[in-house]
Amino acid sequence: MRCPFCGCEDTQVKDSRPTEENSAIRRRRVCPDCAGRFTTFERVQLRELMVHKRSGRKVVFDRDKLMNSVMVALRKRPIEPDRVERMVSGIVRQLEASGESEIASSVIGELVIDALRGLDPVAYVRFASVYRDFREAADFESVLGEIARDAIPRGENQFNGGEPSEDSSGKSDTKSSSVKVPNAKASGETH
Ligand SMILES: [Zn+2]
Repeated sequence: MRCPFCGCEDTQVKDSRPTEENSAIRRRRVCPDCAGRFTTFERVQLRELMVHKRSGRKVVFDRDKLMNSVMVALRKRPIEPDRVERMVSGIVRQLEASGESEIASSVIGELVIDALRGLDPVAYVRFASVYRDFREAADFESVLGEIARDAIPRGENQFNGGEPSEDSSGKSDTKSSSVKVPNAKASGETH
C-alpha cells in the first residue's frame, strides 16, 4: 500500500484487527520512509453495483464517493471516524441486501439522509437540504420539525429547546448551517 504522505511504495502493517462484526479488517500502517501512519480497511466486494443517476447516466457504485459526500455534510462536526465508517458500511450493506444490480441515486440519497439523521442533526440538515434541492422555506421547516420531534425524547436542548422557530434568520448552529447549504451544490450528489 502506497504511503499517502510521501508516496513510498512499501509501507508496513503494524496492527490488524476485525471491525464492524467481522465484515472488515482494519490495518494500521506505518511508512518506513517518512514514519507517517495511516489506516486502511479491507472489505469483500460482493458484486458490482450500478447507480442510476438522475441525469440518466449509469455509473459503478463507489463507496469512496459515498464517503466523500457524507464527509462534506459532516465537516467540522465532532463525529468519530469509526462511527462514520460504520454508518457508510450500513448503507452499503442495505444496498447489497436489496438484491438489485442497479439502484437509483435517489434511493442512496434517502438512505444517507436516514442514517445521518441518527448520527448528527446538523449534517442531516446539510445533506437533506442539498440533496432534496430545497427551494422553499417550508422545506426547511418540515425537516427542522422532524429534527425537533427526534430531539424531544432525548430531552436535549440542541435545537432551540426542540421548537422549530418561524424566524429564519437563524441563531442556532443548526439553522445557520442549513441556511448556508443551498450554495454548496457540489456536496448534494452521492455520485
Ligand atoms: Zn511515507
